[in-house]
Amino acid sequence: MALPIVVYGDPVLRRKAALIEEITPEIEQLASDMIDTMMKANNGVGLAAPQVGRSLRLFVLRDEILDDSGDYVFSSPEVVINPVFSNPSKKMETALEGCLSLPKIEVEVARPSNIHVRYQTLKGEFVEEDLKDFRARVFMHENDHLNGTLIIDRISSNERNRLDPFLRKIKIKR
Ligand code: ZN
Repeated sequence: MALPIVVYGDPVLRRKAALIEEITPEIEQLASDMIDTMMKANNGVGLAAPQVGRSLRLFVLRDEILDDSGDYVFSSPEVVINPVFSNPSKKMETALEGCLSLPKIEVEVARPSNIHVRYQTLKGEFVEEDLKDFRARVFMHENDHLNGTLIIDRISSNERNRLDPFLRKIKIKR
């Protein structure tokens, strides 16, 4: 069941999310509802638990992969629990990012081009991965949500000022 998406201005987006100690049926249900929510949202490639009002270290994502005919398609949705990052590359890459909690806003965000991550799947298995490119970016964007950070915190103060009227509008509408 798709859930309502929390938008900018809600304090839950600024909170540091709690570790998931145990993968209960409630967590499984939350992950399944978050996948429905992400799939329903236009071009949603990732969604973190705080974006549906739950301050927990969990996010869902869809990767972009090349299919047999050379077109980019979405992979099946994945669930990431309690991610821990290490070894970010010194090399940074800049790309345009949007966020379901910041409707209609897109900004250029610089992030390390490679990073290592360790996380748990919904089955509780531990996974270690070296991330790069689009996948690394989605993981880092969603992980930011677990620490109360938004893309508008990763831009220059000039650009932030330019966005201020748009941000105020989101706050008023919510
Ligand atoms: Zn986001």
